Amino acid sequence: MKFNKKLANISTYEAGKPIELVVREFGIEPQDIIKLASNENPYGCSVKVQQAVQKIFPQMAMYPDDSMMKLKELLSRRFSLGEENIIIGSGSDQVIEFLMHAKAEENTKILINSVTFAMYEIYAKHVGAEVIKTASQKHDLDEFYTLYKEHNPDIIFLCTPNNPTGDALDAYEIVEFLAKIDSDTLVVVDGAYMEYAQFKDAAKKVDPKRVIEKFDNVVYLGTFSKAYGLGGMRVGYGLADAKIIKELYKLRPPFNITTLSLEAASVALEDAEFVNESIALNFEEMKRYEEFANKQKIDIIESYTNFVTLCFNDNINSTQLSDALLQRGMIVRNLRGYGMNAIRVTVGTKKQNDRFFELMAELV
Ligand SMILES: *Cc1c(COP(=O)(O)O)cnc(C)c1O
Repeated sequence: MKFNKKLANISTYEAGKPIELVVREFGIEPQDIIKLASNENPYGCSVKVQQAVQKIFPQMAMYPDDSMMKLKELLSRRFSLGEENIIIGSGSDQVIEFLMHAKAEENTKILINSVTFAMYEIYAKHVGAEVIKTASQKHDLDEFYTLYKEHNPDIIFLCTPNNPTGDALDAYEIVEFLAKIDSDTLVVVDGAYMEYAQFKDAAKKVDPKRVIEKFDNVVYLGTFSKAYGLGGMRVGYGLADAKIIKELYKLRPPFNITTLSLEAASVALEDAEFVNESIALNFEEMKRYEEFANKQKIDIIESYTNFVTLCFNDNINSTQLSDALLQRGMIVRNLRGYGMNAIRVTVGTKKQNDRFFELMAELV
């Protein structure tokens, strides 16, 4: 059968290996498997969320509130923006997909960092857009600007903090950059890990309201999948000028967020205590990764997220290492596919991290 020819050069996105697969492949008991591969919150989600979701189970027969009134009101209050500035997606992934279809076309260009979130490139290929990448591994806004001038892309993606490297731009640098970009180029600021970054260093905090009111060509993305601990509920959001949001709405399938997910996100957003505690614990535990890496003479990139990136010299092969960890029930993310001899490890609970250090000491 013939398929859309754009699909021919798209490789399927490989999410962190699911626990179920490791159980089957290596015969390891589920309780002995530790997954530090998808940057989920290792402390789970707020108990208040779990209780609220249980309470609304009986509403399952009804379609969700497609106006998403409650969650939109809460987001609008959180960011001091109007509801016309908000779109909610099945993960911020879905908002990226809407943005791509709304703005890019066949033979137009998308500008991204050389090492960044893989979905930008995959969605660009869906619409046949060409992907231009920086040479620099770290977001270098001077290089972004040079490439912008040269290629005149439809969309520029800034991922800050960046996945999978964990480094983050300062908010003032982003604002200076935006001031130089023509208003017909869409700039996406993906803040999937912003809750972590702003806790560690206030200079990294991008205020969506400030950016959006100043620049009508910017979309800010946020998600409930990371700090809020709701990866399984699939809720993310885009914030932008009403003119952009209006176009994105044309692409949104009806009822794209389930009743349970809307409720979970609404309650999660209001439980600041759970999120703050998770984030504080995250950076406490991250210190242990830094100490471990220093002791083992492994390069670690300074991280503003809930994961660390360990870069190896030629003595260690990241593919062999991640396979060996996998056989022992420890799932991490190999970054070989990004051209790096490195792994990305979600900072887990104390116990999970202890096990990681123990296995690493044995393997390296
Ligand atoms: C996890 C992540 C997302 C989106 O996650 P969703 O679960 O789809 O909301 C977006 N961008 C980056 C950089 C991420 O790491």
